[in-house]
Amino acid sequence: MSLVTVGTVAFDTIETPFGKAERVVGGAATYISLAASYFTKDLNLVSVVGDDFPDAELKYLKKRGVNLEGLEIKEGQKSFFWEGRYHNDMNSRDTITTELNVLADFNPKLPASYREAKYVMLGNLTPDIQMKVIKQMKKRPKLIVLDTMNFWMDIAMPSLKKVLKKVDVLTINDEEARQLSGEYSLVKAAKAIHKMGPRFLVIKKGEHGALLFEGEKMFYAPAMPLAEVFDPTGAGDTFAGGFIGYIAKTNNVSFENMKRAVIYGSAMASFCVEEFSINRLKNLRAAEIKARVKKFHKLVAFDASK
Ligand code: AMP
Repeated sequence: MSLVTVGTVAFDTIETPFGKAERVVGGAATYISLAASYFTKDLNLVSVVGDDFPDAELKYLKKRGVNLEGLEIKEGQKSFFWEGRYHNDMNSRDTITTELNVLADFNPKLPASYREAKYVMLGNLTPDIQMKVIKQMKKRPKLIVLDTMNFWMDIAMPSLKKVLKKVDVLTINDEEARQLSGEYSLVKAAKAIHKMGPRFLVIKKGEHGALLFEGEKMFYAPAMPLAEVFDPTGAGDTFAGGFIGYIAKTNNVSFENMKRAVIYGSAMASFCVEEFSINRLKNLRAAEIKARVKKFHKLVAFDASK
């Protein structure tokens, strides 16, 4: 089923205890699209880059089936740039720099072929831009998922609250859920966030997994325990890409199917962190994804009849 994704396509400089990668390819929409490309081939990207963005990377996205008709390339301007440094635990990081560049005055225009998509993934970027994408859809999509972060809560909370009223699923991390709701307990936070609009909520907890809420219903997926986490950048976006990709593939928005989508998202994220940037997501095989999902099942399955 058709999927429209909006988000940043960017350069990142990443420092982890294992080393530093300078100006590598990143961006929420890049990770989302790549992860989703393992599930559906009707992928349509909305974003903006400067003329500094490598042609080879765009060609690679196209090769993976990502339609780039909605990607604007702005001559003489620079792409979005983000720099982050991870702490030793690899679970927390500091943002050193966020340069909006082309994103500052981006006005997304959805190609006609995008406007009837069944699924919309609003990746992390300005809430106003996320709203503009929703408004250009001809019909109400079957499911709208929104991902955001503390950066936008700090500088654009009123616009974020407006767009939250229009979406079905919100994906954020635990700290952001607390910031958005003002509640420390994640169960209370989920209740408060449901009232803001999203019927479903996914709270990402990094190496501690993810929680899915729909009203009183709850589901927990662990993260795959890994011997080495090389670079957690993009794990949240990759989760979102696997999640929405699986839902678009199965065309089923029930809570039961979302549970599986959370596992597929977690499996994709567990690959993402194994190498710097998007490298691991570039050379995945379907059999590896299947095997990782099986490993998740084994990790949590037990006999409750005794
Ligand atoms: P994640 O690790 O899943 O939170 O995603 C990291 C990616 O998000 C990086 O590749 C960055 O380019 C991108 N990013 C960082 N800050 C922002 C921001 N404020 N808005 C949009 N994308 C961002």
